Amino acid sequence: MTATVIYGKDLAAELRNEMKEEVTRLKENGITPGLTVILIGEDPASLSYVRGKQKASEKVGMESDLIELPESTSQAELLSLISELNNDDKVNGILVQLPLPDHIEEQEIIEAIEPSKDVDGFHPVSVGRLMTGQDTFFPCTPYGIMVMLEKAKIDVAGKHVVVIGRSNLVGKPVGQLLLNENATVTYCHSKTRELVYHTKQADIVIVAAGKAGLITDEHIKEEAVVIDVGVNRVDGKLTGDVDFDSVKQKASYITPVPKGVGPMTITMLLYNTIKAAKKTHGLI
Ligand code: NAD
Repeated sequence: MTATVIYGKDLAAELRNEMKEEVTRLKENGITPGLTVILIGEDPASLSYVRGKQKASEKVGMESDLIELPESTSQAELLSLISELNNDDKVNGILVQLPLPDHIEEQEIIEAIEPSKDVDGFHPVSVGRLMTGQDTFFPCTPYGIMVMLEKAKIDVAGKHVVVIGRSNLVGKPVGQLLLNENATVTYCHSKTRELVYHTKQADIVIVAAGKAGLITDEHIKEEAVVIDVGVNRVDGKLTGDVDFDSVKQKASYITPVPKGVGPMTITMLLYNTIKAAKKTHGLI
């Protein structure tokens, strides 16, 4: 069989059009959702990510602010900036681009963000609410994956999902979201023995390891759904963790890299920021 390719890029464009209309309506009622992104240092990949986030926010009509600070910024300076933004009514979402320089204690920064503005969904309050099945800001990449599955009409209830990767950013939260939707979830990671033994049993495989070519057609069963989160650069070319060409011949659905999960991540960030603005104004 040849898999149906789920293009996150197309879905993202559709959702962003809907969001643009929603932002227009909100603005007519005097509410302009605002996102502030903080970037420390000059890492080119991070700079490109934050610019992408800023551009996307502006395109849907949101207020978007990028604060670029030098690598030498201290923990105290960053904490003081976050405190200012926490108290600024125009700012609905605060995002500190990770990773941070070594001298900054990342967890303390994440925890300094007011949970009602935690549009990345990394604050322990957001994580705890996700764990206990309550509404919260879901981390953007996992949330984007859930929306892709839903829009492709892939029901996850009762399905066996194997998640490869257990990071706080992707693996753990996507597994939890799937569990909340009644999937049976297995986590695999770098210490897992015989990865193929697990993946072969999966109805759905979510691959978030950051290892190009980790998953081939030999790892999956016929008609599995394969979601590739990986972003790797091989010989200057962007590629995922899945050997797309071979897996496409066996899977029922597959996401490509690029144009797959990536565009959904920013889309869900916009969604979370609009949601934060609506919550602040008592609209939800
Ligand atoms: P990470 O490095 O924090 O975590 C990688 C995980 O993969 C770890 O839990 C590790 O145990 C596991 N792993 C590594 N090698 C493995 C192997 N050989 N077998 C099984 N498990 C293995 O990375 P992350 O932040 O979770 O990101 C994962 C990938 O997803 C990266 O390529 C990253 O660039 C990409 N990513 C993409 C988006 C997007 O929007 N498309 C967003 C976030 C991350």
